[in-house]
Amino acid sequence: MEKQNAEHLLRLLANAAALCSADRTDALPVLRQASALLWRLEPSAQPSSAIALEEKLSTPIEGWLPDEIRGDYSGPLLTANMTTQTCNEMILELNVSQLWEVIQACVNRVKQACRLRSDGEVLYRNFRLFLIEHAVIEPSQARDVFVPLNLSLSDFYEPIPQHLKHNGLIYQCPVCRWPMNALRHEVNCDSAWCREKKSVFQLKGSQLINRINNSPLKGEPPKDRLMLKAALWKFTLQPGLLELALAERLTEKGFEAMLWPDVDRTDLRIQFADTTQDIDAKVWVSPYELAKHIEQIPNHVSRWIVIPDYQKQNIPLLRERCPAGVRVFTQSQCVREAQKHAAPF
Ligand SMILES: [Zn+2]
Repeated sequence: MEKQNAEHLLRLLANAAALCSADRTDALPVLRQASALLWRLEPSAQPSSAIALEEKLSTPIEGWLPDEIRGDYSGPLLTANMTTQTCNEMILELNVSQLWEVIQACVNRVKQACRLRSDGEVLYRNFRLFLIEHAVIEPSQARDVFVPLNLSLSDFYEPIPQHLKHNGLIYQCPVCRWPMNALRHEVNCDSAWCREKKSVFQLKGSQLINRINNSPLKGEPPKDRLMLKAALWKFTLQPGLLELALAERLTEKGFEAMLWPDVDRTDLRIQFADTTQDIDAKVWVSPYELAKHIEQIPNHVSRWIVIPDYQKQNIPLLRERCPAGVRVFTQSQCVREAQKHAAPF
């Protein structure tokens, strides 16, 4: 119950920050609710007024929100009156169960359709690849993939909102192609994976300039283009970038690596001399949430779980919680482990 209340409070704070960045008057009732709940969870502290709480949203939450409540989140929720990466991550992740259900329903319909067709394996792979490689599309681009599966474009893509257009242009993250909010102090797409790949910019005049290598990023007219829905970007496209990177590395090392085999029984299946190994790629911000997920894998299932290299520090925690058949690696460790299993030439 306490955990549920803590999550509810985080959701209220993130929603309040999003409302503050659009229209403060809409934020006030949410701030009042958040303030009341915070006082209930922390009765020994002084209650905050809605206005005081609004000011706190622009300061790091680790300075005013107890660790038991904020969990893995840190940093301010607002900067220069715009939502921060932390805030946007909270909005998505705290609504995860709702969003996940919607996505699962869509993707399950596709899987079922593919399992009934002799060419379903190829159609499904093309569909997954399409979503990963097309964060933004012209509607006609989807025809070849969506029509054979009888899919509705609006289940997966939506119009690009005004706040992602700056002077009539959109700026796509060079790593995942997601449109970025060019007005933010630090411009990025809210994905740790993309940040690690140096996708962080600053608006200078009418151009975005990369903060690490100074390269410019041009805006493009959006025309009638659509963007992938946020939940699909987070739970399909983002892990997909790790899945593709891993498959590419393993293929380079001479392995046969199959993405989403048997219409998605696993993310990646690698062929050794006399056996196969199923691999799942996970790009989760919270190692604790991932550990809980790993613990639920039945003992008899043989599975390698792979996380991005930049999350190497989470490996000891995750390994402690592994059931008998599960092993956890970073992307680089996984490639080295596969090489140990390779048949000698
Ligand atoms: Zn990105």
